[in-house]
Amino acid sequence: MPLIKRQIAVVGGGLAGWSAAVGFAKAGFDTILLAPASTSDRRSTALIGPSVDFLAGLGLAEGLREAGQPLVVMRLIDDTGRLLRAPTVEFHASEIDLDAFGQNVMNADLLRMLNEIGETLSDRLTVVEEGLVSIATDADGVTIETATHEIRAGLAVGADGRNSPVRTHAGIGVRKWSYPQSAIVLNFAHDRDHDSISTEFHTRTGPFTQVPLPGRRSSLVWVEEPKVADLLADVSLSRLSRMVEDRMHSILGAVEVEEGVQCFPLSGAAAERMTAERIALVGEAAHVFPPIGAQGLNLGLRDAADLIEVAGRHRDDPGCPAMLRDYEAKRRVDVVSRTAAVDLLNRSLLTEFLPVQAIRSLGLGLLARGSMLRRFVMKEGVTPGSSLRRSPRRTPPDDAPLDPLVP
Ligand SMILES: Cc1cc2nc3c(=O)[nH]c(=O)nc-3n(C[C@H](O)[C@H](O)[C@H](O)COP(=O)(O)OP(=O)(O)OC[C@H]3O[C@@H](n4cnc5c(N)ncnc54)[C@H](O)[C@@H]3O)c2cc1C
Repeated sequence: MPLIKRQIAVVGGGLAGWSAAVGFAKAGFDTILLAPASTSDRRSTALIGPSVDFLAGLGLAEGLREAGQPLVVMRLIDDTGRLLRAPTVEFHASEIDLDAFGQNVMNADLLRMLNEIGETLSDRLTVVEEGLVSIATDADGVTIETATHEIRAGLAVGADGRNSPVRTHAGIGVRKWSYPQSAIVLNFAHDRDHDSISTEFHTRTGPFTQVPLPGRRSSLVWVEEPKVADLLADVSLSRLSRMVEDRMHSILGAVEVEEGVQCFPLSGAAAERMTAERIALVGEAAHVFPPIGAQGLNLGLRDAADLIEVAGRHRDDPGCPAMLRDYEAKRRVDVVSRTAAVDLLNRSLLTEFLPVQAIRSLGLGLLARGSMLRRFVMKEGVTPGSSLRRSPRRTPPDDAPLDPLVP
């Protein structure tokens, strides 16, 4: 079996893995990516500001502009029909001096762009379309076997998703939980312009979120009880189109749902640690979110950006204990706070307990009015920790640096 030696071995060719691999190669590390073929993904991702900056730094600025749709206004509508309802809240990117909060882009387009950039980096990035079969670490490095290769590296990046074999090997425990909900995910065409507005209806069964795509198209994540979601996934497209239009109170006019409706049971997971000897986790290998508040991949990209930045400070020996300590410390607060916030938001929608509804209404009431809290929440939503530093700049440059998270 041929032995391949590299500084970094990224395991997993999802969006987090590809972004990390391209980022490491761009930052000058000899990198290998294990990316077994995957099924096509019809979801889109709402990339928030720093994710767009990070991907621009990888060379995707033009591609994102062409394939993505700017998110200029985010609107939250309480559609629970409860006694205590929250007022409608609209956040405008201009309120925090941004042109847009981010870009909504099809996952398949994002993966294609990362593949294309990867091809231009072939002197520093080797892609093997095989999965990891075994992994062993020692104080000096990590040895990985695939069906036909043996790989030796200083650091293994576990980007191998929610059931991460790398995490299991490393003995990192994981806390998993599920929600009594499933998400129907689909794309649809509509009669009226969306004006770059994303609208999230908060319903008794969970959020119903429309996110604009280029043209008169949008994506939808519709959270329902699992039984209802299963039924919805099976109804005819014309009937589903009418149901979507109804749920949206026709704000985008007539709706035409496209082929490829998918259903995802909602769950969450959090790894106990993000590192082990010569191993660092990124993306869903470290944390799984329900698709609420567009957090999952955005957090995964922040993992990748931070890991690359930290490795740059330990260039002589990426994967050494000091580097892994720095990475663990850098990611902990972001991951823990986002996990708790998304969980709280989702559970507050489901509860029938009046005081919780009151607190949620009060909170959104404060956000609906111009207030310090409103500005703080918007800035933190886009760039975590930024409110405690200084204002984000208005337009990300085409070739933003690889560490956009440090303004
Ligand atoms: C309905 C829905 C909507 C979402 N919307 C958003 C959104 O708007 N914004 C947002 O930020 N996030 C969103 N998310 C979350 C986001 O999709 C995920 O966080 C993201 O796709 C996870 O990427 P990943 O690369 O970590 O994992 P994955 O995409 O699961 O990739 C893991 C990869 O590892 C590979 N792998 C597994 N085992 C091995 C092995 N042994 N060897 C090598 N490779 C292996 C797999 O083949 C796979 O390609 C959404 C999620 C859902 C379900």
